[in-house]
Amino acid sequence: MSSPVKNLPVMQNWDCHACGDCCRIDAVVTDQEKLRIEALDLATDPEVAPKPWFTPANRGAGTWTLTHRPDGGCVFLTSANRCRLHERFGGEVKPFVCHLFPFVLIPAGNHWRVGMRFSCPSVAANRGRPVAEAEKDLARLSRLLEQHVGRSAESAPPPLMRAGQSLSWPDICRVVQVFVEILEDRGDRMERRLRKCLAVARVCDKTRFEDLRGERLTKYLRAVRSAMDAETPREAADLPPPDRLFGAILFRVILAIFARRDRHGHRPSGLRGRLGRVVAGWRFLRGRGRVPRVNEFLSETRFEDVEQRGGAPLEMDETLERYFVVKLNSLQFCGPANFDLPLCAGLESLILTFPMILWMRRALPEMPVVAGTQLAIQLVDDHFGGDPMLGFPHIQYLLSTMAQRGELEKLVAWYCR
Ligand code: SF4
Repeated sequence: MSSPVKNLPVMQNWDCHACGDCCRIDAVVTDQEKLRIEALDLATDPEVAPKPWFTPANRGAGTWTLTHRPDGGCVFLTSANRCRLHERFGGEVKPFVCHLFPFVLIPAGNHWRVGMRFSCPSVAANRGRPVAEAEKDLARLSRLLEQHVGRSAESAPPPLMRAGQSLSWPDICRVVQVFVEILEDRGDRMERRLRKCLAVARVCDKTRFEDLRGERLTKYLRAVRSAMDAETPREAADLPPPDRLFGAILFRVILAIFARRDRHGHRPSGLRGRLGRVVAGWRFLRGRGRVPRVNEFLSETRFEDVEQRGGAPLEMDETLERYFVVKLNSLQFCGPANFDLPLCAGLESLILTFPMILWMRRALPEMPVVAGTQLAIQLVDDHFGGDPMLGFPHIQYLLSTMAQRGELEKLVAWYCR
């Protein structure tokens, strides 16, 4: 008996608009899927690139990736930007990861939750039908996922609350619910809502939860929430600027990863090979002079100009709220969906994307505010939880250093001034 799908993102719309962007990812294919696709009548199809269609990813584990054409597109991507497998044989013939994209199904005890990859331009721009209408499809996908991985949602252990502190699945969901309530409270701008989440997470980091279970836990967290509401500075301008080293420089080190779009065959105009990446990383670290064109959307701009383009217009908040609520409510920020981070550390890593998004939006000054915000989210989310570099221990260490020193709150506030 498979687990139901719950907590669908109510603010989110989506339909595929066939941009072909996701057909550039390194989709992992199992042996079974490879054999199934090879058995299809495709060899003479003029829209399919010549073999080999699969590249060994990890031969011992029987996994492969779809081969890409020289322009970065998948071997099965047609000249009209459509998947040839889907076009001729239906969606279920595709490798499961392609079939599921841009949805992410996350186990949450007795049910699945639905996250979304905002690297899909249609998700970032909220284009299409309400996701809630896809409930039946998602239930079918969850059953396919259970077959694909050979496990049910219930078999997945809950993420830790913090190192050494575990809670049951229902209690983890209670904690997440309180953070979602903070994020949905439109009495504050998004930046203050996120600072309140950080303040509550800080208290959770010091709390011993042994005697706090069930409704008692919810009451405790709601009390912490109102205490933090009173303590959190009201205006972004009330916070000091980020520390030069532990705030600004560490921020730019991680920003250099989030701003890039050179994975999946995308070719930014300013990066050439490994040396190009190293030089670009150095320029981000220095934070002066010309911003290297690490993605094709960046125009000629200087770090100093980005810093001076102040403010976060109010119309950004709806898009930002949608992004953060979907990520949080789906648990796409902790556990296996984000390098096995405990809940509190995962929340901090998610909130760090806020100043990243605001920085990117400022670096795209010619775009209208909402479109620029959506594009910034698309770029940043292409890395969040998926870029192996973000899982490196030294990057995780930088993040926890920034969080422990209170630099995240300052960065969140700083890029809203
Ligand atoms: S990135 Fe999104 S809109 Fe583009 S082809 Fe993939 S699912 Fe469709």
